Amino acid sequence: MAIIHVLSDEVTRRIAAGEVVERPASVVKELLENAIDAGARRLFVRTTGAGEELIEVRDDGKGMSREDVELAPRNFSTSKISSADDLLRITTYGFRGEALASISAVSRFELVSSERSDGEGWKVSIDGKSIVTSEPASHERGTTVRVRELFFNTPARKRFLKSPLTERKRILETILSFALILPDVEFHYVDDNRHVLDFLPAPSWRERVASVLGGTTMHHVVPLEGEAGALKVRGFVSLPAYTRTNRMQQYLFVNRRAVRERTLLGALQDAYRNVIPFKRFPVAVIALDMPPDAVDVNVHPSKMEVRVRDERMLFNVVRRAIKQSLSAESESTLSVTVDPKPRREDATDPAGRAGVASTGSEAHDLFGAGPRENANVISLQERIKDAYSEYVLRHQPPERSPFNPQLSLKTTEPMEKTREAVEEWRRRGLGDDALFWQFNAAYIFVQVRGGIVVVDQHAAHERIIFDTARKQIAEQSPVSQQILFRIRLDLSLAELEAFRGSREVFEKLGFDLEPFGGKSILVRGYPQGLRNWDEGKLLLQIFDDIVQDRLPGDTVADRIAASFACRSAVKAGKKLNLEEMRMLADQLFSTENPYSCPHGRPTIHRISLDEVERWFHRR
Ligand code: ADP
Ligand code: MG
Repeated sequence: MAIIHVLSDEVTRRIAAGEVVERPASVVKELLENAIDAGARRLFVRTTGAGEELIEVRDDGKGMSREDVELAPRNFSTSKISSADDLLRITTYGFRGEALASISAVSRFELVSSERSDGEGWKVSIDGKSIVTSEPASHERGTTVRVRELFFNTPARKRFLKSPLTERKRILETILSFALILPDVEFHYVDDNRHVLDFLPAPSWRERVASVLGGTTMHHVVPLEGEAGALKVRGFVSLPAYTRTNRMQQYLFVNRRAVRERTLLGALQDAYRNVIPFKRFPVAVIALDMPPDAVDVNVHPSKMEVRVRDERMLFNVVRRAIKQSLSAESESTLSVTVDPKPRREDATDPAGRAGVASTGSEAHDLFGAGPRENANVISLQERIKDAYSEYVLRHQPPERSPFNPQLSLKTTEPMEKTREAVEEWRRRGLGDDALFWQFNAAYIFVQVRGGIVVVDQHAAHERIIFDTARKQIAEQSPVSQQILFRIRLDLSLAELEAFRGSREVFEKLGFDLEPFGGKSILVRGYPQGLRNWDEGKLLLQIFDDIVQDRLPGDTVADRIAASFACRSAVKAGKKLNLEEMRMLADQLFSTENPYSCPHGRPTIHRISLDEVERWFHRR
């Protein structure tokens, strides 16, 4: 008897679903692709429960007949290709005929469509296995797909989903990516009854790109243009002084399809070589247009990857175009710069730029007011990279696992001694004759009874600010200071989301913020005593931390407090005077847990006199 059998339709659909439908955002992507393929000019996306409860996509495309509504969710059913040759000239997003089949296999699925102007249409619903109802339904010309209870019958897949916050972010990113490349299409997105975005058809590509990236970022990008034969490159790339810590703000398109394409990523990276620091990434929106037969789109189930036939040419064209845009821009900046005190980031020497970022410190005045910067909202972001590199350096994941028994053995004894020193300090306070010395502009050596305590100035200050911030949030006792000249910050959509989701916490911290139409917010005040506000740069950094999800802490409040602490704490590299060192040490030792910063790194280390004497064999 044969042991091989052909799998049932239900099983094959579920297998295919595994490849196509990884998470709610993949559903959104497939449905938007279908709508655009159907010629839609207006798209409405609605989600609840981070897409797990409901994803609805409505379009005003050409719609479907009753027969097509019933056929569309079947396996390998498509209207877009019919022969294998067609695979070589694909101009639509879809062609595999798998998406609706896959989605309907793992959800409670509903498809309503009409191709008529009289509002009569047809509707089918599927419960993961087969069509449950198929009936007339009214619908304007166009199509609506509703996907409820995604993964209700595949619990394993459900478990792999990330936090609702992350899934929502991915959905938003997916929509943004379409909006970026289709400026003349209208997009609306409502999440849990809240309007997240409403993009009307944009008068120009630049304007749509600006709506997505945010006005502030837009001030730091230059347009990109290039051509070689039938290959066209267009886009926007950021100036070397404006980079990010990851590739999230890099959008690459091949024939309007969002892709991660190796050659393209390589060309982008190469164009910035030696111009931006290691592990920094430019913001980039790059769109390539080429004849459909110059690219193979049938290499990846969810079509995220494509294969371009002439990779070398692609690489060269893109790289050259970027380099030209960047050098054209630096020449024009050079010729108009009359400022006798050039800003550091305006350095035209590429090596100099890299060097600046690795020292990574802005001389903020911590305890007294420093020289005021004349930066306006626009130019301040140019210096964000300093703080970023600094942050990244400091928050690399620890190489040692906390369960390393050797490590715990080794640290027990010094830790005990550190505690003693701190207790002693708390009991007696510091004498006026205490000695302080700053080493490498980053560590404070303090002579205490029976030894020396070394304090990491940034980590220590972080701890102090974190504790104060948490207390203020808990007690709802913000001490706010109004600023004389209110400033407006133009945010990206993701940043705006971060703000909306946590506005309350910011207020408890002492920020006075207010939405200001579009994607801007108005800042009227900030926590009293804050020293490196830097015209709003600080807030943008905190939003960025939230967006990137890279904060420690169990609650939103803790995470924001941690980011606030890290961003506003004195940096390594800042010279401190005696009074500042003393104050930092005093404040640290009066916190509840002076031994580590919110990220868990140590703040102090004690070297005992015994130990020193042992070094020299006196004991
Ligand atoms: P593919 O897009 O690869 O063809 P899908 O499973 O995504 O496969 O869709 C199957 C077919 O259903 C499409 O080829 C198209 O004819 C039809 N279809 C799907 N969505 C829509 C829509 N929003 N408007 C009109 N037709 C649609
Ligand atoms: Mg499709």
